[in-house]
Amino acid sequence: MNAQLKPGQAGDFRLLIGGKLVPGASTIDVINPATEQVVAACPRADVAQANQAVAAAKAAFPAWAARPLSERRALLLKLADAIDARAPELAPLLTQEQGKPLGGAFFELMVASANIRGLAALELPDAVLAEDAQTRVIRQRRPLGVVAAITPWNFPVIMMVTKLTPALLAGNTVVVKPAPTTPLTTLKVGELCAEIFPPGVVNVIADANDLGGVLTAHPDVAKIAFTGSTTTGRKVMASAATTLKRLTLELGGNDAAIVLDDVNPQEIAPKLFFAAMVNSGQVCLAAKRIYVHESIYDAVCAELAKLANAAKVGNGLDEGVEFGPLQNRMQFEKVKGIIDDARSQGKVIAGGQPHQGPGFFIQPTIVSGLPDSARLVCEEQFGPVMPVLKYKNLDEVIERANASEYGLGGTVWSKSTERALEVAARLDTGTVWINKHLDLPPSVPYGGVKQSGFGVELGQQGLEEFTQAKIINMAK
Ligand code: ADP
Repeated sequence: MNAQLKPGQAGDFRLLIGGKLVPGASTIDVINPATEQVVAACPRADVAQANQAVAAAKAAFPAWAARPLSERRALLLKLADAIDARAPELAPLLTQEQGKPLGGAFFELMVASANIRGLAALELPDAVLAEDAQTRVIRQRRPLGVVAAITPWNFPVIMMVTKLTPALLAGNTVVVKPAPTTPLTTLKVGELCAEIFPPGVVNVIADANDLGGVLTAHPDVAKIAFTGSTTTGRKVMASAATTLKRLTLELGGNDAAIVLDDVNPQEIAPKLFFAAMVNSGQVCLAAKRIYVHESIYDAVCAELAKLANAAKVGNGLDEGVEFGPLQNRMQFEKVKGIIDDARSQGKVIAGGQPHQGPGFFIQPTIVSGLPDSARLVCEEQFGPVMPVLKYKNLDEVIERANASEYGLGGTVWSKSTERALEVAARLDTGTVWINKHLDLPPSVPYGGVKQSGFGVELGQQGLEEFTQAKIINMAK
C-alpha cells in the first residue's frame, strides 16, 4: 500500500477475487467531490468477474465453515489491527473519495475496527430448547453460505465491516460490492483481507452500479446484507425472491427529533445541529425533521442559525474543516432541489446559498416555518438541510412524527427522562435515543420498521441473521 496518500497520488487499486488481487475488466473514474477531479481509475468488474467472485466464495465456504469459531475470530481481530495500523494511509483516501473531513475519516476507521472487535467477541453457542427424560432438543447456528455485502457511499468502511464481520464469524464467505462512487478504501481494506484470510473467504469487486443485480439474483448467493435507499432495497428484495435469499435491508429514514418544552435552547442547539448535520447530513439515522415546542421555537431556531452560519465547510483535507461536500453530483442536485422547494414554502434562516466553483458544497442550512407537506419534511433529504417545525402538544407531534413511510430512528430531548420515555415509547421506529444521538455500540442492534427495511445489524441478533437455526431433536 502507498505511503501517505496525497491528492492525485491515490495509488493503484485491485479487485480481490479468489485470494488474488486482479485488475478489473475495465476502469471507472472515482471523483473527489470536493474538487471534482479524478482521485483514481478504479477497476471495474464485469459480470464474469462477479461470477468468479461468487464461485471463489462458494469454493472457500466448506473449509471456512468447518474452522472453529475461535480461529475465524482470530483472523477478524487481525483485520481490526491492520485497519488501525493503516489508518494514516486509508483516512486521506476515504476523505478524497467520500468528501468527509479527515477527522471524520479517522473516526470512521476507528469505529470500523471497534465494530470488528466488538462483533468478533460474540459467540454462537448451541442452545438446549427442551429436555426431559425421553428427549433432548438442541438448536445450533449454522452458516448460510455465500453472503453478498452491498454497501452505500456514506460510510463505506463501517458498512463493509459491519456486514463482513458477523458473516465471517458465523462461518460464511463473502463478496463485498461497494457503491461505485466510493469503492477505493473498500478495495484497500480488501488488500488487507487478502493478507489475512484464506483465498475466496473475502472477495471485493467494484462496479458501475450494474453488478448489484447480478449478486442479488445469483443462485449461489445465500444472503444479501444491503444498506442503501428504499427504492433500491425494493429491487433487491424482488430479485432475491427467485432464490429465496435471506435479507437484511437497512434502507432510508426520515428520523424525527422531538424537542420538549423544558430544555434550554442554548444547550440543546449544538446537539440537534450535530444530530442533523454530522457527515453533512448523509447518515441514514440523522435527525431529518426537528420538531420544537412552540414556547422555545424561536430561541432554538436562532441558536441553530448561529451554528449553521459559523460552520466551516470545505475540502476535508484542509485543516479546520468541519463539513465536507455532498458525496456525489446526483445527491448535490437533489438536495439543491429540496432547498429550492423549501425556500418557496418556508423561511431559510441560515445557509441555502449556492456554492461558487468546483465541489458539491452546501453550507448547513436551517429552514423554519415549513408545512409538513414540504419535500424537506416528508422526503429523506440526506444532506445538510434541517427543517425546524413548531408543535403545540405531544399527541400532535407524535402523530406528525409517525406520519412517515419510514421508521428507522429518532430522538427525544427533555430534562425529564420520564416524559421523554413516554414519547419514545410511542414512536414507530427501530431505535429512539433520549438526550443523545447515534450511540451505536457493536453490542446493540439497530434496524428499521415500515419502509426503512427489516432485519438488524450489530449485536447478537445481527450476528444471528447470518445463520440458519438447525434443530437436532434426539431421543434419549
Ligand atoms: P443511492 O440511491 O443513494 O445511490 P443505492 O441504494 O442505489 O443508493 O445504492 C446502494 C448500493 O446498492 C450501492 O452499492 C449500489 O451500487 C447498489 N445497487 C444499485 N442498484 C442495485 C440493484 N438493482 N441491486 C442491488 N444493488 C444495487
